[in-house]
Amino acid sequence: MSDYIVSARKYRPQSFKTVVGQKALVQTLKNAILNGKLAHAYLFCGPRGVGKTTCARIFAKTINCEHLTPDGEACGTCESCQSFDEQRSYNVYELDAASNNGVDQIRDLIEQVQVPPQIGKYKVFIIDEVHMLSTAAFNAFLKTLEEPPRHAIFVMCTTEKQKILPTILSRCQTYDFQRITVQDIVDQLQRIANEEHIHAEPQALQVIARKADGGMRDALSVFDQIVSFTDGNVTYQSTIDNLNILDYELFFRLTDAALSGNIPAALLMLDEVIRKGFDAQTFIAGWASHLRDLMVSQDVATLSLVEAGQEVVRQYEEQSKRCLPAFLYQAVQIASECDFNYRNSRNKRLSVELAIVKICQLMHPAQLPQPVAPQQVVSRPTAPQQASAPQQPVRQQVAPQPAAAPRPMPQQPVARPVQQPAPQPVTRTVHTIDPNNRFGSRTAAPRLASLHGTSPQQQSAQPATQQLPEMNDPVTPDALRRAWKQYISTIPTEKLLMNTMVSYLPELVEGTQYKITVVSEAQQEIFMPHRGEILRYLCNVLHNSHIQIDCEVAPESTVRHAFSPREKLQEMMDDNPAIESLIQTFGLEIG
Ligand SMILES: [Zn+2]
Repeated sequence: MSDYIVSARKYRPQSFKTVVGQKALVQTLKNAILNGKLAHAYLFCGPRGVGKTTCARIFAKTINCEHLTPDGEACGTCESCQSFDEQRSYNVYELDAASNNGVDQIRDLIEQVQVPPQIGKYKVFIIDEVHMLSTAAFNAFLKTLEEPPRHAIFVMCTTEKQKILPTILSRCQTYDFQRITVQDIVDQLQRIANEEHIHAEPQALQVIARKADGGMRDALSVFDQIVSFTDGNVTYQSTIDNLNILDYELFFRLTDAALSGNIPAALLMLDEVIRKGFDAQTFIAGWASHLRDLMVSQDVATLSLVEAGQEVVRQYEEQSKRCLPAFLYQAVQIASECDFNYRNSRNKRLSVELAIVKICQLMHPAQLPQPVAPQQVVSRPTAPQQASAPQQPVRQQVAPQPAAAPRPMPQQPVARPVQQPAPQPVTRTVHTIDPNNRFGSRTAAPRLASLHGTSPQQQSAQPATQQLPEMNDPVTPDALRRAWKQYISTIPTEKLLMNTMVSYLPELVEGTQYKITVVSEAQQEIFMPHRGEILRYLCNVLHNSHIQIDCEVAPESTVRHAFSPREKLQEMMDDNPAIESLIQTFGLEIG
């Protein structure tokens, strides 16, 4: 191993065209060289390991080359180029300001500046980490920077542009280096692996590139480490073991568990990870970014924001189709809040476990309000079910309906089901998730209703199912209702929609055609703007792109006419629930 050279040095780019991931910037530099428009001072800014110093060296070599190529590259064969390649050129002078930040070192440099080059046209002074220079050193340097000799060019590199004095900034041409994309890093690692005859799995290189967070140097040193650890067989498994990284497969499984509301499975996964020696924060932070990747995978336009290999991106795409946007949004929020508060939490594991439970509950069917058994709904679709019952008595106090009201009275269904075991415990569960879910103050509801009018959800709602791929899994009414209820659990704040969906479960018309029959046009208006999104969700969950759900208004309520003032008021309240809160607020009565 005596002739072993670390990859970061061995594969340091020697020409502009081999610089990884800084295309635009490199082109600008080349153009400046070709057009002979060189500045006296450059400032290269950007994160560590993205090629600032490397570019500075290539720049120094290129501007001294005696036979520039037509596209602005150094020839590599002239005397100047060779002296650069053999690191014996006197035309490049490097100062690492991180370790040499005093006035003395700067004075040495200033002396060098005065000496013209023996061969070539320019002397290039590269000052790394220039923000680390002491104030005295800065001041000493400033004079030289103001009036440099014609042969001197300064390239200052920094990771912290904001620390550079304005007097320096104003004298420099600034170049901002970008983080290198995962794909660019992967490609470069693959090139090196090929040249070194190292077997490297693409997924392993992806992991290394993601770990390096945009820095080529870091990626290369991690790569070297794993190559030596695995004797040149870089597999995905050996890489994640080595880097102490959580397998993304875990997060796919975890998200599947959450989607099916499987809390025990998810908690066991956390336990498994902690046993392997990871801390709970790695787990929750990893999940947060997985959920974020799922979120951007839902739209073709943002799919490119997932920095992963093709195979993994496809997996993200597939899983994201099974997630509701609202679920992902809330799950990301819960996970990143947990990550954020982790440090201050007393019982760290518990806080992560709570977050896991919360996320799993977002889709947990058992946590859903289930006021009615499905069979009941099929048989009596037009009657308001118990779900709406808790609100109805409130309405009664305000404006008692005349006995002749054509609308079915809510008490009827409520009275008997008391013997049924189901409704009571479920009602309590709902309270524990969100006390305002169904029984909260009705005054919040009208505001929601008015929001529906302009929500972007509504605008995008209709064509949603058109973008779905062809899917043809068989759909049973039971499965459809289960998915319907899952959807309800994701909209805890949309009380009106939730109530409508809880009260009216879809009935089979034929094939994949379903319908819900509501009792008022107001309810229809609540449902319709969301129909597209709901359909999209159902189609994805049930893997069938042909599901249709129509929303009808039951004939008896469409033909009813309001005669008495109370009926008229009732009708108005149905159309605009805000009236009811108005009545409550001011204690109004019909005279
Ligand atoms: Zn040359």
